[in-house]
Amino acid sequence: MDSRRRVLTDGAVLIKDGVISQIEKSSDFRTQDRADFEIDARGKVVLPGLIDIHVHLAQALIRGCADDTSLIDWLQKFVWPLQGNFDAQDGRVSAELCMLEMIKSGTTTFLESLLHTRYGFDGIAETVGRSGMRGILSKTVMGLPGYGSEKNIMHPGMIEDAATTMREVETYFQRWNGKADGRIGVWYGARSLGACTRQLYEEIARGAKRLGTGVTMHLSEVQEDVRYTEKEFGKMPAEFMDQVGLVGPKVVFAHGVWLTEKEWQILAKKGASVAHCPSSNMKLSSGIAKVPEMMRTGVNVGLGCDGGPSNNSYDMIREMKTASLLQKVRTMDPVTMGAETVLEMATINGAKALGLQGQIGSLEPGKKADIIIVAMQKPHLTPAFNPVSHIAYAALGSDVETTIIDGKIIMDGRKVNTLDEQKILHEANERATKLLERAGVRISPRWPMQ
Ligand SMILES: [Zn+2]
Repeated sequence: MDSRRRVLTDGAVLIKDGVISQIEKSSDFRTQDRADFEIDARGKVVLPGLIDIHVHLAQALIRGCADDTSLIDWLQKFVWPLQGNFDAQDGRVSAELCMLEMIKSGTTTFLESLLHTRYGFDGIAETVGRSGMRGILSKTVMGLPGYGSEKNIMHPGMIEDAATTMREVETYFQRWNGKADGRIGVWYGARSLGACTRQLYEEIARGAKRLGTGVTMHLSEVQEDVRYTEKEFGKMPAEFMDQVGLVGPKVVFAHGVWLTEKEWQILAKKGASVAHCPSSNMKLSSGIAKVPEMMRTGVNVGLGCDGGPSNNSYDMIREMKTASLLQKVRTMDPVTMGAETVLEMATINGAKALGLQGQIGSLEPGKKADIIIVAMQKPHLTPAFNPVSHIAYAALGSDVETTIIDGKIIMDGRKVNTLDEQKILHEANERATKLLERAGVRISPRWPMQ
């Protein structure tokens, strides 16, 4: 993954001070630059770290807690009561669990979209620092407890007010943005339509401009979003967002399932991006985003795993395959969204969405050394004639063997060096059980558990 999309067989990468200083065929490597430390990746695939641009860290702890249910029940009976009962320790453990899974499946950078105050922003930011990952944390901004045209439906534990949330973004931005050697970013996490007034969206746009930071929000995920903005504002969702000043670079709209051609043109012209979340859209029956058409119009589209109750995993390698296959069946055209396209979406397109395309998203001299190594000597990856095809269609997140971020080896031989896996798994199980009790949520499998 470089600007010429070369696939180097027998390649070598030299990392110096956390930055890629050389990448060439081994035979062309300048010998005076031999490294102090070498990783032998013979027979393996070396790729840029994957970039997940729509993640809910706090949903790892409620993985599998809301399956096979309608969206409103999904939110009202399961996700909101559970998240509305989180405390800062739950928030930290959920973030640790999520990052552990991301590191182990090759994600090196993520955009978290909605951190409510009760999840404990400081604890989560500290976890990003400690994990070695690159993460943008968006603090929720909201003013109304609604969702689409449904008024006052949010769980009391999820409700926050406009003045406080606006102030918090600024506080956390000052405290954390650019910290951990620049690995942490802080953005505005505007809550979905129905939870903010027009004035609040305008304030968010002004705030983001003043701080020079980004904004992310769910948009046109469900048809209800379209009905809502048409009724309330006489506009389509992206037209409305444009009107309040919320369409531009470093703006990431999650889902965009129901965006129209006119709206794609607005996003393309203003440089906003879409986080396509195929597994989540399929599981919640939200619809199928018209990704190839959107991209042809010029919209930058990256990939997102969304969350524990909607996906239910944070594995970007699986998400690439899902993204490709979903478009093929929708368009009835097997040429659509090939392996190369989904690999771009998971890497360089994600970097562009975050405004980090100068630093990450490809393997080129001068870019940060965010690199993964995928093992290929496996039955399900044999024979291997085209590595791009295997990564998109045959590999799994668990095939990632080494994860390097900022030049540091974060995972080696599938052992994560920065986080204590056993401790986190134990704590996550304990905390999730207590959380379910506290929230009064019961998971009732339809088959008898004996
Ligand atoms: Zn989401």
